[in-house]
Amino acid sequence: MNHERRKKLLSELALFAFAVCAALVALTLFAPEALARVGGGQSYGGGGSHGGGGAGGLIVWLLFRLVMLTIEFPAVGIPLDIIVVSVILYVYLRKDKTPLSVCSADAAVGTTEPTHRSFTQEFNQLRRFDPNFSEITFTDFCYALYARAQDARGSGKLDELSPYLSDAARNSLTERNPQNLQAVIGIIVGSMQVAGVQGLTSPVVQISVEFETNYTEVVGVDGKQPQQMTYYVRERWVLERKRDVLSPTPDKATALHCPRCGAALMKDATGACAFCGARIESGEFQWFVRSITLLSQEARGPLLTSDVPEVGTDYPSVVQSNFQNIYAHFQQNHPAFNWAEFEARARLIFNELQLAWSSLQWERARPFETDNIFQMHQYWIEAYKRQGLRNALDNFRITQIQPVKIREDAFYNSITVRIWAEGNDYTVDTQGKIVSGSNKSLRRWSEYWTFIRNRNAKPAAARADLNCPNCGAPLKVNVTGICEYCQGKITSGEFDWVLSKIEQDESYKG
Ligand SMILES: [Zn+2]
Ligand SMILES: [Zn+2]
Repeated sequence: MNHERRKKLLSELALFAFAVCAALVALTLFAPEALARVGGGQSYGGGGSHGGGGAGGLIVWLLFRLVMLTIEFPAVGIPLDIIVVSVILYVYLRKDKTPLSVCSADAAVGTTEPTHRSFTQEFNQLRRFDPNFSEITFTDFCYALYARAQDARGSGKLDELSPYLSDAARNSLTERNPQNLQAVIGIIVGSMQVAGVQGLTSPVVQISVEFETNYTEVVGVDGKQPQQMTYYVRERWVLERKRDVLSPTPDKATALHCPRCGAALMKDATGACAFCGARIESGEFQWFVRSITLLSQEARGPLLTSDVPEVGTDYPSVVQSNFQNIYAHFQQNHPAFNWAEFEARARLIFNELQLAWSSLQWERARPFETDNIFQMHQYWIEAYKRQGLRNALDNFRITQIQPVKIREDAFYNSITVRIWAEGNDYTVDTQGKIVSGSNKSLRRWSEYWTFIRNRNAKPAAARADLNCPNCGAPLKVNVTGICEYCQGKITSGEFDWVLSKIEQDESYKG
């Protein structure tokens, strides 16, 4: 090879290497990410598909260079071809094995453990031993305990929660404490997924759950300005309980009471319950956290500015088996239930939520959501605000609603519908510049929305207006979802249907 040709080859190779690096950087920047919408694509467990964005053009150009290199210098080009083809095959085959539903936070931390699975069967089995077991109540309990545990870690009062948290669990929380921790504030649970159910054939059943949350640690020494550090956290909790215990009613599932006697949590000098004398170190009476594992703790929030194509909008609906009969049976048992009224309420809630979301005025959504999903949405609103962003949805409308599931447990009735909608979905920064999405092109999507209503709710028509479902006064609720006029907690589903869950079409398992 003469000098000129060698020089050309070297410069071709350098160019090629540079282009590969550039493509990798571009792919990282446009990695699978969140898209927006109320509790929607960007919410945990949804929306993750594989973006390519700006990397596409670069890759085409890269392949073109490779072809040129192969023609001009086959001795170098052909081995390079083989390497490139192998890498593409490897990535492609791996991708096939990765489920489409990647959490946005997963993408941000770079892990893609699949955590989505429906545990309906396991929970039905558990209900044979504990007819009161309700997924809704269990979730409420976990949310409440999580917040109480983080708060207690900050105030140094974790030992008070020993009837609910094992020594090991409390230690693993304390280990996280930085020096001079004064408080943990702003605790928001972004999502909680059941990751496993075990021991249904043994006396003790275990449920592991994964949390994705956000909190702020306040650190400081007396006399100095305290410092605040905000973290996005993923952790796994393993809870256990005697299988044959009857779950308490929802109002008692708050981790505020002695699991044995139900009195306020208060300990005597020996560390036992001050009222009943029980020293609780297991799940003999109520769910008990055996272990807590910190999976990741990041200072940066979720990425909120990349475009992701919609996945699953045209998938066939996942409908509960035997749904027609279940529906007929439900209608028979609840003569006051009227589908048209329910659907009108679902539409009202959908519209109010989109408006609240687009304006970052999440309080507006308060009357329509259970505490948990309200908190989860609050997490996203805060993340947008912190990054100086706002996700807007203009010209949206529902194009179709299909009922797909009805469930009744000891305390709640729940109805899941699939909602198809469309609108202009885009994210703007504080200057009003569009940073992702488009305010011109129409985006179509579908989601599964689950509404709940307390079984003891008075038989009344579902409300499709902006009045309190209990007293009829214009809706005005405080942060805990209590009507300012009648003091009724209208977000518990005690009076009317409220939203309790949103699931993406590509990850909904029924
Ligand atoms: Zn007690
Ligand atoms: Zn009221």
